[in-house]
Amino acid sequence: MTAPNLSDDMTYDSENIFAKILRGEIPCNKVFEDVHALAFHDINPQAAVHVLVIPKGAYVSNEDFTANASDAEVAGFMRAVGQVARELGLAEPGYRILANHGTDSGQEVPHFHVHIFGGQNLGRMIKPLDK
Ligand code: 5GP
Repeated sequence: MTAPNLSDDMTYDSENIFAKILRGEIPCNKVFEDVHALAFHDINPQAAVHVLVIPKGAYVSNEDFTANASDAEVAGFMRAVGQVARELGLAEPGYRILANHGTDSGQEVPHFHVHIFGGQNLGRMIKPLDK
């Protein structure tokens, strides 16, 4: 999949894959849903546990979400991320959350989402810079 140039275009594409999942047009392996968020297993897991949490609202990325979502949406979403991790049994021994925004991050799906990784030792946070 080619990463869209989100830095140049923050217009929400209502035909993106996560919008279709939210509308129930394509299936997902759901693990959690409330008024603010939906969580489901990533189709191409990068860790023993790899779950995506998405807000119900139409936001392109963290940039759009934190600039334009209401306080209730932001708080509700972040509480959902924590609840999902707890329900997955990841609070202990631990987990990682990650959100990509824009071209340099390689964001593929232009609907804001937080990745939750866990179920194994995750190693270093990010590939070290070449010295
Ligand atoms: P990004 O690179 O945008 O941060 O992450 C997008 C994630 O969405 C990737 O990890 C990819 O595997 C996942 N993904 C893409 N299409 C689908 C899909 O149709 N269903 C599910 N469950 N995950 C998807």
